[in-house]
Amino acid sequence: MPELPEVETIRRDLEREAVGKKIKTVDVTGTRTIRRHKTKKPFVERLTGTKILGVDRKGKYLLLRLDSGDVLVVHLGMSGQLLAAKNAKTPPPLKHTHVVLSYSTGGQLRFVDPRTFGEVFVTTPEALESEVPELAHLGFDAYEQVMSWVDFARLLRSKRTKLKPLLMDQKVIAGLGNIYSDEVLFEAGLRHDRTSDTLTAQEVRRLYRAMMDVLQEAIKHRGSSLADEQYRDLFGEVGGFQAFHRVYDREGQPCVRCRNPLVREKVGGRSTFYCAHCQV
Ligand SMILES: [Zn+2]
Repeated sequence: MPELPEVETIRRDLEREAVGKKIKTVDVTGTRTIRRHKTKKPFVERLTGTKILGVDRKGKYLLLRLDSGDVLVVHLGMSGQLLAAKNAKTPPPLKHTHVVLSYSTGGQLRFVDPRTFGEVFVTTPEALESEVPELAHLGFDAYEQVMSWVDFARLLRSKRTKLKPLLMDQKVIAGLGNIYSDEVLFEAGLRHDRTSDTLTAQEVRRLYRAMMDVLQEAIKHRGSSLADEQYRDLFGEVGGFQAFHRVYDREGQPCVRCRNPLVREKVGGRSTFYCAHCQV
């Protein structure tokens, strides 16, 4: 599932590739993808003839600002891909292509989603938070926003929950999921099941810094594609950060810090990877 670094990579690609372009035609073949609109017509009509002015990210949501005043919202869900194409034939459309925007200049923006948990819809900036309540309660963006250590410490103390679910709670921190929370906790030297109100001032700082470092590095390497290679950037390329994962999916391999074998534990239906030796 794409997390902050993957979505941010696509946002940056879109800034370069899609901004300034005018949407000439809209084709919808997967109605589940535009389920919020009930029918194709309002979706198609609100997009046709508009120009893309800019691209923002809120948590794991992409928001394309249009010159009509509307926003085109894209959520990749589990397996969604947003792909740029030269024209209708190049490259040949993939199976599970559900929405195609064709630009007046000839290129295309395609939304592909085999598992159809992702979605695409048009709304107004004013209605956005009522459409997606998750966005109204989104926590601080660990990449774009700055929080003081004092405030971060206060936040951790007030929650009194285990660190991993806390890092993954979108209402607390926006954009972290299963992969990056494991990587951040390893970097910080903290266990996934440490209770958030037991951290020392030094550990709070380490956690904050680890979050910044891991996200920055991951964005620099254009996100992570796992073995299924589901995550692709706008140009259909896999990310590169998986080569730098220090714990995720590395069960049994030696810890880069202490050489003890890394462990995998199922917590709440998810795999958690960590070093039982040097994460405390
Ligand atoms: Zn270790």
